[in-house]
Amino acid sequence: MKCHLCGVKEAVVYQLHTSKALCRDCFINDILKRVELEIKKYNLIKSNERVLLAISGGKDSFTLLDVMSKIHSSSKLIALTLIEGIEGYNRADVLDFMKSKTRELGIDHIVLTLKEAVGASVDEFVKNMVLKNIKIPPCTYCGIARRRAINKVAREQGVDKVATAHVLDDEAQTYVMNILRGDTMRLVQVHPKGPWLSKLFIRKVKPLRKIYERETALYAYFHGYKFQERECPYITHIPTLRARVRDYLYRLELEKPGSLLRLVELLDEALSDYVKKYYELPELPHCKMCGEPTSYNREICKFCELLMSVGLIK
Ligand code: SF4
Ligand code: ZN
Repeated sequence: MKCHLCGVKEAVVYQLHTSKALCRDCFINDILKRVELEIKKYNLIKSNERVLLAISGGKDSFTLLDVMSKIHSSSKLIALTLIEGIEGYNRADVLDFMKSKTRELGIDHIVLTLKEAVGASVDEFVKNMVLKNIKIPPCTYCGIARRRAINKVAREQGVDKVATAHVLDDEAQTYVMNILRGDTMRLVQVHPKGPWLSKLFIRKVKPLRKIYERETALYAYFHGYKFQERECPYITHIPTLRARVRDYLYRLELEKPGSLLRLVELLDEALSDYVKKYYELPELPHCKMCGEPTSYNREICKFCELLMSVGLIK
């Protein structure tokens, strides 16, 4: 079958959400165009801005790296890989591959362990938690510690934006979870024009937020990415609401392809005025222990609270 777009080359991909068969080149161009469109629509990144790319080594982050190198000047990009410190999860072969990719693209690449960046690895946190006989999902620490580390490096590097590899599937899940929880503060932060609540936070953008995970898998594969995703041993601890929302949304997408895209686009549209209400909020207060921003109702930030609860700081 010929490609539905160019009509010349053989189609190799069936794009479920448009019911179109595409050749490799048209598929890649379509992804690049959609990312550029999203960046332009919400003015996510200006052409002169320096951007830190948070890349874990998975297919989504490989795609982010490759796409950004094609649509933004490589001299204005820096890559950051954080090693969580989870036995059996952080793979040296994937890291070597990512390093050779950034070298080939001429992009500086910082590699840091979570311990170097913020003081404790995920395994260390879990070990202390077990010793103290308390239960906190490892993902809670992992997520907060990674965000803290990325923001810290971004500030040190003096970049204008941080780009993460969140894809459409992640955005849809997060939107739905926050609606189910009635958490409007977090809901507006999913929006590309969400409020910026502290000058200490470097603005985060998600260039792949309209690209399906199944598409990043293909994009990465077409560019020589051959790794199977390895499951984190703590995956079973993923908060159940996210796991259930994810399963439900996948079933929906399977029955009606394009559902996730329509959901995110509709919510983006519906919230575009509502988010502005949050622009008037005051700057977030600072944590009494570490000086980083903390929520309005907290004196000590969640990160310090977690470390304290397992005895990693006093
Ligand atoms: Fe971190 Fe949880 Fe993901 Fe493992 S599953 S990498 S602990 S967020
Ligand atoms: Zn703190």
